[in-house]
Amino acid sequence: MSNPPAFAAKVTASVRVPSPSSEPNTMQEAQKQAASCTRCSLCHDATQTVWGEGPVNASLMILGEAPGDQEDLAGRPFVGPAGRLLRTNLEDVGLAAEEIWLSNAVKHFKFVSRGKRRLHQSPNEGEIKHCRWWLDLERRLLSPRLTVALGATAASSLTGNRAPLSLGAAMWKLRLTAAPC
Ligand code: SF4
Repeated sequence: MSNPPAFAAKVTASVRVPSPSSEPNTMQEAQKQAASCTRCSLCHDATQTVWGEGPVNASLMILGEAPGDQEDLAGRPFVGPAGRLLRTNLEDVGLAAEEIWLSNAVKHFKFVSRGKRRLHQSPNEGEIKHCRWWLDLERRLLSPRLTVALGATAASSLTGNRAPLSLGAAMWKLRLTAAPC
């Protein structure tokens, strides 16, 4: 008798998880491995893994929750409406997005379909936990002096708990979301 598909998928997933001995030691290699990640079910419906982007010697990392619809299609972080607003606000405070490492706590788009539209869903705790393996690796390879979490999911992924945002992160978020004059 053949094994049920769910069991087969589980076995495939466990085989594809990188072992410690094959842990990538460059950002390029990490991105390549993450492209075939099946640690959680988000990989099944999303178009592609959306890895971080920026200079690998960036001292500032900005971390969002997860890619949205446009990021999923483009395979790049922060290219949708919220990302464009972020880039504009960074410019307003004298920061160039090209000098910052932009990434997300969870690397695959989560959504529900409503007709032709794909509506964003926040990743759950399990998905955040699975993807933290990649985030930890990404941060080890980058070694940023400062990581700014945009929102509760990013903050909880960094801290490992659901504690409210710190005042500093909340103030930064306010600056970034304030409408330009
Ligand atoms: S969301 Fe993260 S852990 Fe889940 S499949 Fe995508 S890259 Fe892997």
